[in-house]
Amino acid sequence: MHRTDRQFVRPLRLAAVALAIAGSTSAYGFVPAGGTDDASRWQLTAAGTTGQSGDPVRLTWSFVPDGTLVRRPENTANTAPSDFIATFDATFGAGPGGSDLTQRPWFTYFQQAFDRWSALSGVTYTYESHDSTLTHGAGVGLTNIRGDVRIGGIGMDGIGGTLAYNYFATDGGDMAIDTDDLAGLLADSSNNYRGLRNVIMHEAGHGLGLDHSSSGDANFLLEASIDTSFDGPQHDDLRGIHWLYGDVFEKAPAGRNETAALATPLGALQAGSMLAIGTSGSGSAIGPNETDFVSISNESDLDFFSFTVNTPVSLDLSLTPRGASYNQGGTPFNTLTTSDLSLALFASDGVTLLADSASNPAGVVESITDFALTQPGTYYARVRGPVTTAEQVVQFYRLDLAATDLIPALLGDFNADGVVDAGDYTLWRDESGSSVSPYSGADHTGDGQVTAADYSLWQAHYGETLGGGAASVPEPAAAWLLATLAIGCGRLRR
Ligand SMILES: [Zn+2]
Repeated sequence: MHRTDRQFVRPLRLAAVALAIAGSTSAYGFVPAGGTDDASRWQLTAAGTTGQSGDPVRLTWSFVPDGTLVRRPENTANTAPSDFIATFDATFGAGPGGSDLTQRPWFTYFQQAFDRWSALSGVTYTYESHDSTLTHGAGVGLTNIRGDVRIGGIGMDGIGGTLAYNYFATDGGDMAIDTDDLAGLLADSSNNYRGLRNVIMHEAGHGLGLDHSSSGDANFLLEASIDTSFDGPQHDDLRGIHWLYGDVFEKAPAGRNETAALATPLGALQAGSMLAIGTSGSGSAIGPNETDFVSISNESDLDFFSFTVNTPVSLDLSLTPRGASYNQGGTPFNTLTTSDLSLALFASDGVTLLADSASNPAGVVESITDFALTQPGTYYARVRGPVTTAEQVVQFYRLDLAATDLIPALLGDFNADGVVDAGDYTLWRDESGSSVSPYSGADHTGDGQVTAADYSLWQAHYGETLGGGAASVPEPAAAWLLATLAIGCGRLRR
């Protein structure tokens, strides 16, 4: 099955949508072409079998040679020879010509369109320079022979009307452009040929497994009438593709980030600094330069992230659902609450659970605050949906990490009044032998115990003041070293 796309001027848009996809509704917002995830997504490509829902996919795209037979959209039993290359050359110029199509002036717009989907999702598109005269719309992709997505073009119905059509993923995903429209929208240079690029990205959306959606109050790329008021995939379009192929971090070289060992690295978390992922897309619209989207794609998806601390820090983690409210196919959706996400923090072994947060309902932030990480090393944050076999539909989120220094600014100043004096000794005496949160109260060695080692720190710093001249405060790293040495000295006299 394929999907034919027509161009309508915006005043006719709603009528056109109703005509094109009457009765098309979905429990998800976006409309999967095959009804379910696995029945909609690619199963076999030039790279082999593609796994299951939420797994990433690698796809190649190629141009069929002119003369290759392309099926007519109104009657696929009839074909016409592709005039795609000649017509694009006539419109955009042939550049140096020759067989290397990457040198054509028009090539870049196809490259940009496929790259955009690749930058936003678990889909990786790569140009395949080979193709053959095998009839368009048939045959699986084969490396160095033809692409998974074969692009051709024929004159379909003059300027306007039909712009293009595309086979769904389960029918090979090939794309056909109405070359008559190179005298119209497809040659409009506005916004870096946004009309052409949006048509390519819309068709690619069909080729990935989405059918038309219809929103009455938001603008999406997969709506039946092409819209050039925005650039590329929008929120609901991206939800559909993440549901089918996951977010961009599911395609890391080693595999999906389902375990601590395969965690997506967020880098070093310094005391006094923050890290964040999933910062793009807080509403239904997506800007052309936004790329930072993460999601839990379905009930089996786990997302692990790693971060490294080099000094003892107090950690704050927060998991914020991302979404928007809009109407699809007559049904109101709030994509902030499609899945009830939970947050967990794991130790450096990737297995030991240090803390978690799962009690809030869908749509509400989950957070872990003031968690003491006393040892340098790599830690792991895990995001997942509810533990249930019920089907879960993609949920976007944002993950924020912040760290503050755990080491007291003035060692021995247990009561934090800015001076190491008898009052600190009193606190140490009262707490001596007890367990406290690391670096709190009279524990300045950070071992979570109030011991003789803390007393000796007090003794060594007695009389010092916060910011005091000669009795200056050690740098945090030095202070930590000092604290470690103090532990190493063992028990001291009371
Ligand atoms: Zn379409």
